[in-house]
Amino acid sequence: MAECKECYSAHSRITPLLEPRNCLENHTQYICGTCGRCICIDRDEKRGVQRWNFPFKTLETAKLYLRTADASMKKPCGIYEITDKNGRRSYKIFSDCEALTAYLAKNRDKRCETKAPLYQRETYEEMPDTQIRRLTQQEVEQYLLEQQKNNGY
Ligand SMILES: [Zn+2]
Ligand SMILES: [Zn+2]
Repeated sequence: MAECKECYSAHSRITPLLEPRNCLENHTQYICGTCGRCICIDRDEKRGVQRWNFPFKTLETAKLYLRTADASMKKPCGIYEITDKNGRRSYKIFSDCEALTAYLAKNRDKRCETKAPLYQRETYEEMPDTQIRRLTQQEVEQYLLEQQKNNGY
């Protein structure tokens, strides 16, 4: 299966990964206009962060959310590998190297060996059919059915 040119994943129903019903019912979604994949783009008003600002356990998972970062920042963002003081790795999306540097300055126990993104799209392309909104209850049920049927893929 080919990667979706809009949301960069070959698996059009793989997200949400955790508690899909809760996410689809309660969070604003980036709805891919090309493959229909829903990606959580909700903003936590208290902390002022979106889902894509959180650290991911794997590069692959971070890639599933990269489109929402690119769409929010209107530019190709990068996925960086962060190592904590115990040597544990995580993957975090930053809009650019300066955002990474600012994060490292505030989190002295974290490091980024390469200071360069492991993954980044070459360009950011706006797509005509993208929607960013809450789903209707009917859309939630339909999406969950499709997710079960395709086993997330
Ligand atoms: Zn969510
Ligand atoms: Zn897509």
